[in-house]
Amino acid sequence: MPAKDFPRISTALTLDPHPEENLVSYIFRLANHRRLGSARMLLFACKFDTFTNQPRPEWMAGLAKTACIDEKDLWAISYGQPDRKWATFRGQPVSQSVIERRGAAERRICPTCIGEIPVHRAIWDLRYVAICPVHRVVLMDACLACGKPIRWLGGDLTRCVCAGKPEFSSFVAEDAAPEDIGATAAVYGLMGDPRFQAEADQVRALTPFRDLAGANIAEFLYRLGLERMGRLNKYFSSENPGELVWEAHVAMRRGLKAVTPWPSAFHRVIDKMRLRSDVLPGKSMRMAAGAVERWQAGLPEGQGTEILRVVQEYRVVDRERQTGDG
Ligand SMILES: [Zn+2]
Ligand SMILES: [Zn+2]
Repeated sequence: MPAKDFPRISTALTLDPHPEENLVSYIFRLANHRRLGSARMLLFACKFDTFTNQPRPEWMAGLAKTACIDEKDLWAISYGQPDRKWATFRGQPVSQSVIERRGAAERRICPTCIGEIPVHRAIWDLRYVAICPVHRVVLMDACLACGKPIRWLGGDLTRCVCAGKPEFSSFVAEDAAPEDIGATAAVYGLMGDPRFQAEADQVRALTPFRDLAGANIAEFLYRLGLERMGRLNKYFSSENPGELVWEAHVAMRRGLKAVTPWPSAFHRVIDKMRLRSDVLPGKSMRMAAGAVERWQAGLPEGQGTEILRVVQEYRVVDRERQTGDG
């Protein structure tokens, strides 16, 4: 029979992971490719308990076998093995607090990105990414048709499951403010996106960041930015940003502003952190400067040394001021 008489449906079993997608995106695409109707069917066939980008090794082995794909290619788009504190994002350790969402089922997307390449980009899972610097829009987290949060549901990651199954690519996202784009563009570069290497290099060249890995620079900017957004309950923390999660791009811009000029702009943020509570100066120092020091202490050896130096310098100056006044 001549080849042209064969049905034009692809019967290839394998599907290659896209380098920008996360593991759950791949599971959805593979299920769709195999016409399974729902990604959950594939998930349970591989013995996964839940949609996760940090599967147990035996779950991943099952998926690799089902997908007929080398396990290491799947680990490359995953966030590493299960771990309470850390995830691995494209080879860089990132803290769990910046990768978790409000409920694991929810997503944020750029409709134009999904229209161009129909995969869920891993970088949208980072809490400090709230805009797409490629299309200069705010990421969407709700369906424009039904108003419900965009979730990992059904069998197609490019559409909502509501009536009419609207394609996300048909949605128009809100423009991001031009001044808010640069800091997130740098974060894309710091997390390995080749399109934003120039922006990343500019940030890497700043004095406090010369000895920090890209993901740690991004997290520092986020923590500092949240401080400048006026959070009240935590000090220099990336946990539970509440409503501020939608303003992450603004936080990143403000975080970047708070390191130039270095170190005076940064010292002013510590001043502000201490003024937040009406506790004794010694206690406010432990809460504010101490929070930055504790974060630095958790970094790999040799990282964040300039940041630590400047915090300690701040302590010395403050002690002299106290004794001078007394
Ligand atoms: Zn985009
Ligand atoms: Zn909908």
